[in-house]
Amino acid sequence: MTGSFLRLGAFVLGLLGLKTVEVLEPHHAPTAPLRLRWITNIGLGLVNGLLVSLLCASCFVLTAQGRLPAAFAPLPRLTSVVWVQILVAVVLLDLLSYALHRAYHGIPFFWRFHVVHHTDLDLDVSSASRFHTGEVLFSSVAKLGAVTFVGIPPSGLVVFEVVMLACSQLQHANVKVPARLEPILWRTLVPPAMHRLHHAPNRRDADSNYGTILTLWDALLGTFNRRAADEQPSFGVPRMRDPKVLSLRALAALPFRRSAEG
Ligand SMILES: [Zn+2]
Repeated sequence: MTGSFLRLGAFVLGLLGLKTVEVLEPHHAPTAPLRLRWITNIGLGLVNGLLVSLLCASCFVLTAQGRLPAAFAPLPRLTSVVWVQILVAVVLLDLLSYALHRAYHGIPFFWRFHVVHHTDLDLDVSSASRFHTGEVLFSSVAKLGAVTFVGIPPSGLVVFEVVMLACSQLQHANVKVPARLEPILWRTLVPPAMHRLHHAPNRRDADSNYGTILTLWDALLGTFNRRAADEQPSFGVPRMRDPKVLSLRALAALPFRRSAEG
């Protein structure tokens, strides 16, 4: 339960903090009206947040009661130092998130769900919440499987979730990053400029820069894209720009429609 409150607190703090910076120092002028986007994005974020909280809570209760299969769980046997366990958890789960994100782009069935995230016609802090509930369910099951298999402590999962949320909100935010900080971020933590390329309407750019926390995985695994940004950025999926297709209700049904193919 503490983890859920921490996640909710981090979500609200990041949302309000980065929205303030977006108003004071935006990177680009809005490329789509804010109202419909925010209703959709925050609506999805609240539903998904509730789902993740329920899943995490029930998984740890079952683990504690010994109802889940005995985990292979090498981590607690390799080290009993809690901060090392947490660090390993963050790095491993970030690698898993990278792999899942690549699978969501590469496997047509999963793209049907992930395309919802890419239909956003602008990019700001609210875009970090725009995921179809089906995708959040797949990702949660994969992550909880890894947590059980590796033996990641609950504190490791909670720290990862909060760090991932903060990094995701930052990389989607419509903020100017100080020029001095930009090159340091490109070598360490995914900066907004790197993730903006991932949201470009053309599929070549969209199929690159999959990282959420570390830039290391894209650099190591051949998906790093550092082309110069366009003068005026544009976002979204070219054939899905009609407001009727982009309502919360239409997006919930999108994976089950023919138009989500490809
Ligand atoms: Zn993507």
